[in-house]
Amino acid sequence: MRIATAALLALIAATSVFDRARSLQASVGRSANAFALPGEERGVLRLHYVGKPIGYERYTITPDASALTLSSDFAFTDRGGEVRLTASLRAKPDYTPIAFTATGKSYRFVNVDADVRIDGSDALVRADGHETRVTIPSQFFTVDGYAPFAAQMLMLRYWKAHGQPRLLRTVPGLPINDVFIEARGREAVRIGETVVRLDRYVVDGVVWGRETIWLDERDALAAAITRAGGLSFEAVREDLEPALGGFLERASRDRINDLENLTGQVPLLKSGAYAMVGATIVDATGRPPIADGVVVVRDGRISDVGARGDVAIPADVPTVDVAGKTIVPGLWDMHTHVTQIEWAPVYLAAGVTTVRDMGNEFAFITALRDAIDSRRAAGPRLLLAGLVDGGGPNAFGTEYATTVDEARRVVAKYHDAGFQQIKIYSLVTPPIVEALSAEAHRLGMTVTGHVPTGMTIEQAVSAGFDQIAHLPIRGEADSDEVKQTIRFLRDHKTVVDPTQSWNELLGHAAGTPIAAFQPGIAKIPSPLNRVFANAGAAGIDAATARSRLERGLKIVKALHDAGVPVVAGTDEGIPGHSVHREIELYVEAGFTPMEALQAATIVSARAMKLDAESGTIEKGKRADLVVLNANPLDSIRNIRTMRWTIHDGRVYDVNALWRSVRFQP
Ligand SMILES: [Zn+2]
Repeated sequence: MRIATAALLALIAATSVFDRARSLQASVGRSANAFALPGEERGVLRLHYVGKPIGYERYTITPDASALTLSSDFAFTDRGGEVRLTASLRAKPDYTPIAFTATGKSYRFVNVDADVRIDGSDALVRADGHETRVTIPSQFFTVDGYAPFAAQMLMLRYWKAHGQPRLLRTVPGLPINDVFIEARGREAVRIGETVVRLDRYVVDGVVWGRETIWLDERDALAAAITRAGGLSFEAVREDLEPALGGFLERASRDRINDLENLTGQVPLLKSGAYAMVGATIVDATGRPPIADGVVVVRDGRISDVGARGDVAIPADVPTVDVAGKTIVPGLWDMHTHVTQIEWAPVYLAAGVTTVRDMGNEFAFITALRDAIDSRRAAGPRLLLAGLVDGGGPNAFGTEYATTVDEARRVVAKYHDAGFQQIKIYSLVTPPIVEALSAEAHRLGMTVTGHVPTGMTIEQAVSAGFDQIAHLPIRGEADSDEVKQTIRFLRDHKTVVDPTQSWNELLGHAAGTPIAAFQPGIAKIPSPLNRVFANAGAAGIDAATARSRLERGLKIVKALHDAGVPVVAGTDEGIPGHSVHREIELYVEAGFTPMEALQAATIVSARAMKLDAESGTIEKGKRADLVVLNANPLDSIRNIRTMRWTIHDGRVYDVNALWRSVRFQP
């Protein structure tokens, strides 16, 4: 079966090519090893971020009498920022680790400083300045995040040499991490006349979520698709580079299948027709809550809602007693990047039933959206913004526009694939902002994005931005300049998603534990903890960090007071939990709890022109609802007390959803 589209390359899931592959494999393998010393193995991997080539990993594996030593140099440049990681791993001939070190960065804000030494049945682990001694399980490996890929390659070799256990423990972790590995099948890649036979594996737990890794017949790494800094990250051996698109599509199909399987394992508590009776209903219209209310759901819609005495429950509709609970509309996250299937259950668990994806790998995000829309997979409704940047070495992603024709082509591509919006990135020039916006508007799409370098907010909005991502307003909320900008945004009905929880997460003083403002940090899987362990601004104290955050919150409040629609977005952050934090921060800024809830429901729906069918609890709207144990109007912290999430009329237990992706409920 042919799955890549380019003329000369195809990733083929067929056994018929294997014989031919075997004869050609030897020559391909040798070329990668052409400069190696006897017994030495070398590899060069091309690194990509969201499909764009950005750097290389070069590794050498040198054997000696009793062991082998992997040395890796991993380096890339992302939007002008340099990232470099050097790592070494010493292992026995059967790949059992002896020592591992990794130093540098694995992403722009992810510092890595790990050193593991095996001492008998213990591992001495130094990571992020802490030293621990842990007892190692009988089967284990040393790996610290997705990079270097060569370490993951040796992990797979270890796994193959040790009976392919379903669970492999890895260090460093907290204190030990669980990694699940599965062989997924054999296939071949054709590059011109050359066919390379590969085995595909899924690895779950080195990063949060599943990775796909391909090894060739010599167990050398051919390709890997993972996640870094919240977006997709790909490594492909140099000679296989033309097959990147095929690898991405193959991994994407694997992941959608995984999500469909995961969906089957999370019990669906109810669907069809039912009436929830006895809860306090906070409908997010701004009207007072309905005490002892009733919501009737039928076929994914709210067929009736009101006080118990005012709603006639049809005789054929079963009732569910939800006395003491509070029902609010399903939440929205207006700034995310759903780069992995694991986000789907996480969002539902957090009460989020609609998200706007602000830039992603094209094949994956469209396939994921379709799987959710067709109900094959459970997840929040996905609205898509298509990312486009200007040209040049510092551009982001794979879609660029530097001419009017290119602008039309990019907008058409996204429009044809059902995207709702265009997201303009930093390097687009002013005339191309105008061209992109005009074409998007002509096709009924809206425009959001980062204010491009060299443009002011006013210029970007005048050129066509309908919305602004993040909060690119400098200065104090009460300065004349800021007031003028806010008036301008109000006059242009510009929508702002200020991502304050993201600013807080990256901008908090490095010495302040994240748990001090984000209790969700205690519930996330170990690999995510490793990512956030070093997040935060170095060299500032807690008071300085707080005053920076408060300056932003004052501007958010001033925008809101002026009538500028503020919509809740996280830019991912702590998955799921950052949505709650974003809402809490709006209350800290001075919103009422109702206004903060509206920012994450009806105001977001209105910004996406979907308020006629979503965003409040009203008759005829989609049955996207959250049942909370406590009322968020009493204290906004109660927004974290999810019990059930109802998406499209289907009722899920949030605890089962959290557990399905290895979060603590
Ligand atoms: Zn973003």
